[in-house]
Amino acid sequence: MSRYWSRFVHDLEPYVPGEQPKMARLVKLNTNENPFGPSPKALAAIAAASGDDLRLYPDPDASALKAAIARRYAVQADQVFVGNGSDEVLAHLFMGFFRQDKPILFPDITYSFYKVYCGLYGIDYRTPPLDDDFGIRLADYPPDNGGIIFPNPNAPTGRLLPLADIEALLQRNTASLVVVDEAYVDFGGESAVALVSRYPNLLVTQTFSKSRSLAGLRIGFAVGQAPLIDGLERIKNSFNSYPLDRLAIVAGVAAMDDEAWFSECVDAIVAEREALTAALAARGFEVLPSAANFVFARHPGHAGEALAAGLREHGVIVRHFQRPERISPFLRITIGTPEQNQALLSALDSLL
Ligand SMILES: *Cc1c(COP(=O)(O)O)cnc(C)c1O
Repeated sequence: MSRYWSRFVHDLEPYVPGEQPKMARLVKLNTNENPFGPSPKALAAIAAASGDDLRLYPDPDASALKAAIARRYAVQADQVFVGNGSDEVLAHLFMGFFRQDKPILFPDITYSFYKVYCGLYGIDYRTPPLDDDFGIRLADYPPDNGGIIFPNPNAPTGRLLPLADIEALLQRNTASLVVVDEAYVDFGGESAVALVSRYPNLLVTQTFSKSRSLAGLRIGFAVGQAPLIDGLERIKNSFNSYPLDRLAIVAGVAAMDDEAWFSECVDAIVAEREALTAALAARGFEVLPSAANFVFARHPGHAGEALAAGLREHGVIVRHFQRPERISPFLRITIGTPEQNQALLSALDSLL
């Protein structure tokens, strides 16, 4: 606190990211990073770009990266926006598109940054509750709104909404923007990018942080029709000309082009997720069906907070949310390597 703060700064409620512990040899299953490294081609691209050229500003449009994303998703380059992590893309779209007269809608249990952006930009919102199985009920999202956003699969539940449901929502919700945050879609979902050409009010965001193992580089993007992308560019160019540095641009291109590495890592994580789900169930956990690179699980005989603390003593870090109350029994566990997942299970065996 400082007397030089404005009332605005004083009243902010910032997002609290998952811990990035400084201790070595931890089994870190708390922030949904990819346990496999980035594409070797991305690392080679970074090495090749680490030279004298770093004295020069990067391409403000990151056009090579937009072109690579457009190729991969079979869209036009002017339908792609890139930012410093998808969090920045989300911040821009909240600022630019969600400051409306009517409240925006997102689920009561979801990515907790949405509320933070609403606070930052003074956006009114409503949070329709998930159903008893932690699914999104689209009937709770009537057309009279300032915009709609949800992750698919949802976080932290991992539950997936079928693409047909999203299309049905788009068909009746034509007066406001619908944003599908696909941070985890590569682990079992079907991307709504396929709907972009038909729905001018659809914006899909994705990230290189999870399925492409580049959380440390900060690359996110949005796909939508060109007028929406134009709007995002106007905001970006009123904020920071160079959100993506030279290393991020070249590594992003290489990672997007390395389909073999991408699918090998994703397949391995999906196989591990299924194995871990079965192993947790065998230990009495209730595990929500996940289409993401994490599982959301509770044990009827043990409180979530106590389990998370116990695991920590065994050097295994998972994510536990105190609020909302309804999810406090759960642990959100990132899928690790087979060795990491085994370490988790061994730690659980000594705790349960
Ligand atoms: C991880 C995550 C993001 C942010 O990803 P970055 O690109 O690393 O900023 C956005 N939305 C959801 C739901 C996430 O889980």
